[in-house]
Amino acid sequence: MSDFNWCHGPQCHEKHTVDRVRGVKGSKVLRTRKVPQNKWNSNTMWRYFCSQGCMHDFLKHNIDEFIRLHPRTECLETPIKDPHREAHDTSWGHKWYDTKIEVDESRQS
Ligand SMILES: [Zn+2]
Repeated sequence: MSDFNWCHGPQCHEKHTVDRVRGVKGSKVLRTRKVPQNKWNSNTMWRYFCSQGCMHDFLKHNIDEFIRLHPRTECLETPIKDPHREAHDTSWGHKWYDTKIEVDESRQS
């Protein structure tokens, strides 16, 4: 197994940074970055990307293919208990409200 992945950003090799410059004088190139495989990126998407920019480029490029692979053809639902609104008083005489939403574990599948 290799100890790095090439960054999967489709434009990684087009970004103008000195760390991407490779090759001998007279035939220099901008090269895709290597992404080292280590304990910080193991089992995360960061084992495939050198930066957020490259990750976003990859997503923009491939989103339709992902959606075809993992289509959402119907909505999902999480069973909840009937929400109830609670009023709270502040020490300076103001009132604020929040609505408590709890998952109904008894209806979880
Ligand atoms: Zn990259």
